[in-house]
Parts: sequence; structure tokens; C-alpha cells
Amino acid sequence: MTNVSKGLKSKLNEISVISNTNFLQKCIAEDGTIKYLLGFPDGERVETVLMRFDNRPNLTACVSTQAGCPIKCIFCATGKLGLKRDLLSAEMVDQVMMIQRDTNIKVSNIVFMGQGEPFLNYDNLAGAIKVFNRSLDIGARKITVSTSGVIPGILKFADDFPQATLAISLHAATHETRKKLVPIENKYPIDDLVEALKKYYDKTNRRITIEYVLIKDINDDLNEAKMLNLLLKNLHCNINLIPYNPINSNSKFSEPSENQIKMFKYILELSGKKVTVRLKRGDDISAACGQLSGEYNK
Ligand code: SAH
Ligand code: SF4
Repeated sequence: MTNVSKGLKSKLNEISVISNTNFLQKCIAEDGTIKYLLGFPDGERVETVLMRFDNRPNLTACVSTQAGCPIKCIFCATGKLGLKRDLLSAEMVDQVMMIQRDTNIKVSNIVFMGQGEPFLNYDNLAGAIKVFNRSLDIGARKITVSTSGVIPGILKFADDFPQATLAISLHAATHETRKKLVPIENKYPIDDLVEALKKYYDKTNRRITIEYVLIKDINDDLNEAKMLNLLLKNLHCNINLIPYNPINSNSKFSEPSENQIKMFKYILELSGKKVTVRLKRGDDISAACGQLSGEYNK
């Protein structure tokens, strides 16, 4: 544009980004979940998932924060990719804009539960949350960030976004079990993590969501549930059980039987905490938790 002053041009350069994100593919699951594959100019790709629930009017976007992920949890398709790179704030915002443009419906809730470890890309995550708050009118209370347990990020998040919701991918009750599943356990051990969560609660007064992927014969023993009750005894939290979603056809893991999930849940409920089992969304298009690999769907 030639009809823009030099001053305005340099201001725009400073404060704005022209989106370079490409819409590569879209898959729609039987339950209405939509998975988008987006591409960036350097060739990296990420997936974003839009979830609708029959009994709720909200549209929830599941946003990715990194291309790939360096944490390498052994049950997760994203972890198999390793870290490709951090996403920019604009690339996180673009994921939501793309959904709104495609569906013509306003996204009301955001869960940072796509690809990547949000707290290893903290500043860009924070930048995106601020844009969601200020420009897309999505309040912090409508935003959830899920982390594998990066303690410095958790403490900073408590200070910066005390109104948002924090979800923790715990997946085990002991150091021994957790270090086999979530390698970052070696850096931030489970006892330190729970202490950090107590500090988080003291600062924010916000109940934490504990996520627990249930994998048959790995972490679904009822003793593990009893130990989890002890570990979380003095923590204000809800527990969300996620039955394992297969990430490839020869996966060595499987989900526990319905009965085992019920019993595991029953024991956790003895603690008085609210325990839910996460609904599977979009597993027929590999859009369910842990299935995001950035591949094209046939
Ligand atoms: N990277 C962040 C957020 C994204 S994953 C994190 O790990 O917290 C959202 C949830 O799905 C996490 O709790 C994650 O551990 C879980 N998940 C990963 N792979 C899974 C799989 N194969 N089946 C079920 N849940 C899985
Ligand atoms: Fe990364 Fe989360 Fe997958 Fe673990 S579960 S590898 S932290 S995306």
C-alpha cells in the first residue's frame, strides 16, 4: 500500500503480523469433531481440533503450542516426532481464527491440549492468551493449559493468569511408574510437582485438573489409585481419567476394560474428589488425545 504513512507502516510492522498459515486439510469425525491440519511457510505443520458437545452450546478449540514435542511421553503420537520448533503467538492465534473462519461460529473455550508442551514455550503461550482475552473476547476462565509438569511454568502461570485453569498430566502416583511414562519426571519429580501445585492453589484459589491416561497393566492397578488418593490428599483438584487412545495399529499399549476403569474411578471417588472419564472425541480421524501426529489423513 502506498497510501499509508511511513510512521504508520513502521508501527504496523512493530505490532502486527500478516498471517502466513495455510489451511492444508480438514477431517470431520462421526461425532462432529473437526481436525484441521495447518502448514507454516517453513514447512512445519500442526493440528488443531474443534470439539462440540451435544448438550453444550460451546465450541472448544484444542490448540497446539509446538510443532512436535520434546517431552516424548511414551504413549503419545506427538512425542514420537520430537520437537520440530516452538510456535509463535500468532501461529497459536491463527489456529482459532482458522476455525472461526471455516465454521462461521465463535470459539468460546480454548484448551491448550494439542501438540507440544505449552510451558516450554511460555512467552509465546502468554502472548496468545493475551490476544484471546483482549481481541477475541475469550476470558481467562474459558482457557485451560495442560502441562506435563514443568514446575517453573506452573509457578509463573499462577502469577500471570490466576483466572485460567491448569491441567496436569500426572498419569501415575509414584516416581517409579511416572518416570517410565513421562520422561520429564526425571527433571521435575512427582513430589516436587505436587508441592508446586499446592503453591499454585494457594496463589490462585483455582481447583486444578489432574489428567490420568489409563493404560492396561501399566498404571491401572487399583493400588495405584489408592496411592494417588494419598498423594493428592491435601490438594484441591478434580481428576480426569483418559482411557488410552491407540496411536498406531501395532501399539504395545491398550485401554483397560470398562470394568477396570469403573473400579479405578470408584476408588478415587472414595477420596471425595470429583472424578470424570474423558469422552473420546474424533478417534475415527485420529483427533483424540495423544493421536495428533501432523500426518495427512487418507
Ligand atoms: N502436552 C500437554 C497437552 C496435550 S495432551 C500435556 O501433555 O499435558 C492432552 C492429554 O492427552 C495429556 O494429558 C496427554 O498426556 C494425554 N495423552 C497423550 N497421549 C495419549 C493417548 N495415546 N491416549 C490418551 N491420552 C493421551
Ligand atoms: Fe508432549 Fe503432551 Fe505428548 Fe507428552 S503427552 S509427548 S507432553 S504432547
